[in-house]
Amino acid sequence: MSNPLLREFNTPFDTAPFDKIKTEHFMPAIQEGIRLAKEEIESIKSQALPTFENTIEALDLAGKKLGIISGIFFNLNSAETSDEIQKLAREISPLLTQHSNDILLDKDLFLRVQQIFKQQDELKLSPEQKTLLEKTYKAFVRNGANLSEEDADKLRKIDQELAQLSLQFGENVLAETNKFVHFVDKESEVEGLPESIKEAAAQTAEEKGKAGQWAFTLDYPSYIPAMTYLKNRELRKKLFIAYNTKSSKGDELDNQETIKKILNLRHQRARLLGYSSHSHFVLEERMAKSPKAVMDFLENLLVQAKPKAEEELEELSKFANDLDGLERLEKWDFAYYSELLKKEKYELDDELLRPYFQLENVIDGVFQTAGKLYGLKFKANQEIPVYHKDVTAYEVQDLQGNHISVFYADFFPRPGKRNGAWMTSYKGQFKLEGKDQRPHVSIVCNFTKPTKSKPSLLTFNEVTTLFHEFGHALHGMLANSKYESLSGTSVFWDFVELPSQIFENWCYEKECLDLLAKHYETGEKIPEDLIERIKKASNYLQGYQTVRQISFGLLDMAYHSQDPSQIEDIFDFEKEVMKKTELLPSVPNTLMSTAFSHIFQGGYSSGYYSYKWAEVLDADAFELFQEKGVFDEETAKSFQKNILAAGGTEHPSILYKRFRGRDPQPDALMRRAGLVKKQ
Ligand SMILES: [Zn+2]
Repeated sequence: MSNPLLREFNTPFDTAPFDKIKTEHFMPAIQEGIRLAKEEIESIKSQALPTFENTIEALDLAGKKLGIISGIFFNLNSAETSDEIQKLAREISPLLTQHSNDILLDKDLFLRVQQIFKQQDELKLSPEQKTLLEKTYKAFVRNGANLSEEDADKLRKIDQELAQLSLQFGENVLAETNKFVHFVDKESEVEGLPESIKEAAAQTAEEKGKAGQWAFTLDYPSYIPAMTYLKNRELRKKLFIAYNTKSSKGDELDNQETIKKILNLRHQRARLLGYSSHSHFVLEERMAKSPKAVMDFLENLLVQAKPKAEEELEELSKFANDLDGLERLEKWDFAYYSELLKKEKYELDDELLRPYFQLENVIDGVFQTAGKLYGLKFKANQEIPVYHKDVTAYEVQDLQGNHISVFYADFFPRPGKRNGAWMTSYKGQFKLEGKDQRPHVSIVCNFTKPTKSKPSLLTFNEVTTLFHEFGHALHGMLANSKYESLSGTSVFWDFVELPSQIFENWCYEKECLDLLAKHYETGEKIPEDLIERIKKASNYLQGYQTVRQISFGLLDMAYHSQDPSQIEDIFDFEKEVMKKTELLPSVPNTLMSTAFSHIFQGGYSSGYYSYKWAEVLDADAFELFQEKGVFDEETAKSFQKNILAAGGTEHPSILYKRFRGRDPQPDALMRRAGLVKKQ
């Protein structure tokens, strides 16, 4: 067979053969993968009597090849896409949706699953097996296994449409991001920009054929520093408006109608299955359980955070007024003045810290941290094929030299990569016939690129992002389940951010910073007082940031916890919902909904609150490390065993309690964020 996706990979650790894959290989490989999966399903159905092994376990093992191929395809569609791949995604997505519906709406298959589900008390299952059984059964029911033929058909149509619409949503946002570039030809207009950013802006302009000018784009590494440092208020306003009007201008890239269609289809889908809203449907399988619990959680936090946020803004407005006579602090002023005030308060800014955070040193420090906590060793391996020259592949081993995982790191922005940072995997972990199949995990980021004269020097925010994604990666790499669908990050959504967010805490600890923060030119360790100031500054504007996160959570819930057919105007709706969390004057004709990819493209619908939810968990969990020592062996072992390795094998509240010895308490978060006095 000439298709490299379909023959033996013949690569180290059976990694994806990126060096041989061409775009035209995907469609035939996906089709063959679907055929193989169908064969496996037929074989399950042909067994005489349904048992846990020949049905539930066999289902977990079915479609592995298809999973690998589609994993490669969709990961590339996020990290290294092209017009061709995007076009193909529009064809492949419905095929996969249909395939998964074919399985989940298969009556005979469902009857087998149902039969085992009903017998479960007699089956002497392990807790992991019980979880798998329940998850499998619910997957069928939540996809319409109990529906009439007619309603099941409706459901299929809705799912296909939804898959198309969320792809469309994402493509529009990416196209809007790539489309925008603003050139500046007078050096006076870029005043305030740190040298490294100015240099990068000049380089971008040169790449775009305008040597001698400066270019600004909507990519994070261009946009964020521009908003933070540009003295030129008009230019900041221009960039802010470009950023916050993405896909809302009524042209072919507009997402307003897409949003309405997505919302109405999600609602119809939930009603069809007997839930009163999409949120009710989603939250049934979350630690939080119900929309009411989420709303109470968010409202409660809002009450605690808002007074602090207002206090912070008052101070900031006064500061901007004293400094520049600013009458009114606008949204495009926020980052700029808060950076200046931060500098004054803590004598700290990104540019002061950057030289201590050379990417190579930081990643090495991250590896050392993982080594101290979990005994992991990372070794770059150039034999492992990668999909772009900027990607590095590592071999990960434990202290005894056992192979643990393959780890890919992809750090710099490119036109074909979507914004933000994420962790993903090319192969999950599971056990087959007693053999442990180890995972292939990847993190993809958009960090500051090296320039002609400087290596990649990260902002502290980029450092915490790296720790965050690496925390997810640890969840994947250290997975130790029997079944892939319960392995690693396959946990309830409001639990999945615990491993990532807790790992960020180490960035503020001297013992950890000593491993990664040294001056890129002199090799000098980061001075102690800088660490102190980083810690103090970490609580800076926590009230404001908390309210902002809550506002996104509330917007998400507002869209999804009621009948959306009443929503006529996306601008009006968003404005109305954001009223009680709006702290700065609202800017006419701007909005976030049309680029809110988390909830309209990714899987975070009715789930945005989970960032804050997980913060409660991570702050509470990290206090145990602080109590025992941030590299305490026993605590790390317990976290590895009960949380990271356990994946989704049991309900998160059980796993959490096993680690912490009790239920999570929100006080630790309030203390850490400085929203209440430390005791
Ligand atoms: Zn995350």
